[in-house]
Amino acid sequence: MPLDFLKRRPAEKASAQPVPQLLPEDVESEDHTTKLTYRAKTSQGVRMAAGTTSPSELPLMLAGISQSDIELIEPLAVDFQGASPWIVRPHEALQWINANHDHSSIARHALVILESSDAVDPAFETLAVSMLSGDVDTSGFPEFDAIVGGVASHWDEASGDMIVRAVVGWGGKGVRGDTDRAGQKLIAALFSNILASVHAVGISEVERPMPSAGSGGLVCAHCGFASAHDRAFYCPKCGMRMVRG
Ligand SMILES: [Zn+2]
Repeated sequence: MPLDFLKRRPAEKASAQPVPQLLPEDVESEDHTTKLTYRAKTSQGVRMAAGTTSPSELPLMLAGISQSDIELIEPLAVDFQGASPWIVRPHEALQWINANHDHSSIARHALVILESSDAVDPAFETLAVSMLSGDVDTSGFPEFDAIVGGVASHWDEASGDMIVRAVVGWGGKGVRGDTDRAGQKLIAALFSNILASVHAVGISEVERPMPSAGSGGLVCAHCGFASAHDRAFYCPKCGMRMVRG
């Protein structure tokens, strides 16, 4: 690369018209900051005996804990596999809006927190979420110290059992010291609700399926769901065995 631009200009040119020297450190600047904090907690998974439990029963596990209507959020189909709530990536953000605009403001707030903190993966998990503590602001969105969440389920790829976890999240433009403790109490309450399910067979040590970078391509022969999770043996939506598309 030519370095001509580094050469000093001829002295006679520079001295012809003296320019006042303004050093970079003399420039006045104002600082602007915004701090967004999202936090989430998840429990261990609880295994439900294969074939006994449907994701549509997940809302029952929030009984006595939810503080608003419970919303069931199904896994995203392959059309939305790039969906992400980050507005600076407009293509992914548009997919996210298309996938989630029908949900309530509480559910969308929960998804933003739980997805951006990697607490859930929308490619293969079903969620039942609601307000769990705190208040909404005048526009209906949870305040930063409100706790949202509920339970998340996926199908164990080895056994076909449904695995259910407790998930909570909170955050925004602020933090309060006692929210973490309140979140832990809610996780404990949700976890005992999951364990109390008649089909629960115990705590699962199985890791969640890893998100795949593949292009999907599996279509469920039973419900027609096109999975974005191309390693799924079981349909993320209905739990039946997937067939190669
Ligand atoms: Zn299916």
